[in-house]
Amino acid sequence: MIDGKVATTLTGSSSMSVCFICGAKPTEMHNLDELAIRANSGEALKFGISPLHARIKFMECILHIAYNKSFAAWRTNKETTKIKEQAKATIQKRLKFVLGINVDVVKQGMGSSNNGNTARRFFENPQITADITGVNEQLIHRFKIILSTITCSQAIDAEKFQIYCIDTAKLYIDLYGWYYMPITVHKVLIHGSKIVSEAILPIGMLSEEAQEARNKDYRRYRLYHSRKTGRSSTNEDVMHHLLISSDPYINSFRTKLKLKKLDYHEDVKKLLINEIE
Ligand SMILES: [Zn+2]
Repeated sequence: MIDGKVATTLTGSSSMSVCFICGAKPTEMHNLDELAIRANSGEALKFGISPLHARIKFMECILHIAYNKSFAAWRTNKETTKIKEQAKATIQKRLKFVLGINVDVVKQGMGSSNNGNTARRFFENPQITADITGVNEQLIHRFKIILSTITCSQAIDAEKFQIYCIDTAKLYIDLYGWYYMPITVHKVLIHGSKIVSEAILPIGMLSEEAQEARNKDYRRYRLYHSRKTGRSSTNEDVMHHLLISSDPYINSFRTKLKLKKLDYHEDVKKLLINEIE
């Protein structure tokens, strides 16, 4: 997984707001016919999608539409800034009250309060989220299905996924054509199926979750399985433990963990190659 900033640099894109795969600018995001015939950078497709990051960006997209909905403009001016702030405060309060999540709160030195968990709660029940934000329920539902599909570790049917994504993009433009599609949403909806077919493993297996999951092990090894005589000896022991526990040979002796059977939404199942029961 490569993050957006690195990909922008590697592909020599001029700015973060330009798609590094097809070079589309924000103002060009809604011309689907033109996007379909644009030349894509094959190299950039290999950078994949990071599902965790995508979930947060999709949530922020819905939120920004919700804030600006009453005056239907991408930018705010002197008058509309006030309206936006008001709408934002109301929506934040309701999200906190109903779903128990804090969104778009700036934390000192930590960026925003939007993280994977807030975004997961946000998309859990599209009906409730639509009710709070006033954004179209069908669109939120489709975002949810797309996000679950790219996070699941099953092989995705690229063709079906492509159709679903393009239909979602059309719905988005029909409803909220005044809000230029954010770059991450564009990347998934327009280039998602190509990225999926470029990947060697199901895209969900390549997520940053594996690295994140190791944080817990790291803390335990650091606490219980390392010498505390100096930083280098501590790190050396932690490194050794990480190597041992991830060694394929050693791993083959482990009793297989019974994976919790994930319940995929019906619509997600339709986008997979092997239909699961
Ligand atoms: Zn693009």
